Amino acid sequence: MSFKTLGLNAEILRAVEEQGYQKPTEIQRQAIPLVLAGRDLMGNAQTGTGKTASFTLPLLQLLTQHKQPVKGHRSVRALILTPTRELAAQTGKTVGTYSKYLSLRSLVVFGGVNINAQMIKLRKSVDILVATPGRLLDLEYKDALDLSGIQILVLDEADRMLDMGFIHDIRRVLTKLPNQRQTLLFSATFSENIKALAHKLLFNPILVEVTRHSSVTTQIEQTVHFVDKNRKRDLLEQMISAGNWKQVLVFNRTKHGANHLSEHLNKAGISATAIHGNKSQGARTRALAEFKKGKIRVLVATDIAARGLDIEQLPHVVNFELPNVPEDYVHRIGRTGRAECTGKAISLVCVDEHKLLRDIEYLLEQGIPRITLPGYEPDPTIKAEPIIYGRQERHVSGLEMGGPDRLTKLNKGHAFMRR
Ligand code: ADP
Ligand code: MG
Repeated sequence: MSFKTLGLNAEILRAVEEQGYQKPTEIQRQAIPLVLAGRDLMGNAQTGTGKTASFTLPLLQLLTQHKQPVKGHRSVRALILTPTRELAAQTGKTVGTYSKYLSLRSLVVFGGVNINAQMIKLRKSVDILVATPGRLLDLEYKDALDLSGIQILVLDEADRMLDMGFIHDIRRVLTKLPNQRQTLLFSATFSENIKALAHKLLFNPILVEVTRHSSVTTQIEQTVHFVDKNRKRDLLEQMISAGNWKQVLVFNRTKHGANHLSEHLNKAGISATAIHGNKSQGARTRALAEFKKGKIRVLVATDIAARGLDIEQLPHVVNFELPNVPEDYVHRIGRTGRAECTGKAISLVCVDEHKLLRDIEYLLEQGIPRITLPGYEPDPTIKAEPIIYGRQERHVSGLEMGGPDRLTKLNKGHAFMRR
């Protein structure tokens, strides 16, 4: 099965070929023809399965086919919403790559950077706008753009948008869009909340689902190291040095913890940078670029900051602390073993985290092999203590608990989302 059979035009195929893609991934194979046929779609697939191309390629083709007379200044034809700035930047880059041989204008806008420059760029009409919800609304409020001509709306990482409390923003964006449009919603996890959102957003949608954890099991070698909390830093340092790891993404639960760990590693002579919501946009972009280039060996990240980051063929992901939400484990380790290469995902688990580990294994429907390194055996006399979560980066309180609170909040949101 090649990309050629999917109905994409020569200019798009050429750009895809230049990326070195041999064949479409499963989600691409299923989604592309449906999007080309104009259907609304819910796409559910693991991270690293190529979701971006599965909506971007057909979207580009549709925009090329229905080349409309320019509707006037500030108009936008397709809107891609993403939860984080990093993901917006990355998706924007991907759009640029795939549309290389087309005459379509794309633009990326997100918060944390000067709005005036974005307003100036929006004066000319834009074919594809990639945006985070907050900045999009700011621009709309300033009359810098006109969303009434949107033909295609894409919500990428919809689950995370809800987790981050963007439901109200999304709702407000929707009121600015025409009812006549094609809508695509992508998510790595599909909770009941997402399904409910999709129900309000999409018209007669088709669900494209690619088996749940297949990429986790086959392409990622997972291990758990039981170790005491106060020995984790030493163990990590030793693993990085002994294994001569050149590029490792390390997850922490809190911003504070991420800063701390990165400082510690730097002192130990291992170049590291922390990336989280408290860092300026410039600092985050710089850190990511340096990590990608191999200038720094360790990127210490919180879940929000790392969400959706595409770092090609990342060999190692370490969970310095397990995530509070089992689904986040899947997202985290999805940063390795992407597309067609194998990666290693290592979790350092202390006695406090045994319950979290059980929840993760339950979700995966598989046990993760345990390894104990000599010299790092846990002290059996240490008792489990409740985990102190610190200040979370998520904006809606109560979400961490995932309890009834969450359901009520989100359901209330849906009530306003009629099309
Ligand atoms: P997701 O959004 O599902 O997490 P991405 O769209 O970010 O995944 O893609 C993950 C990686 O796979 C990217 O590096 C992308 O360039 C690569 N990729 C996408 N499609 C293909 C393909 N058909 N063949 C090989 N690599 C691909
Ligand atoms: Mg993605």
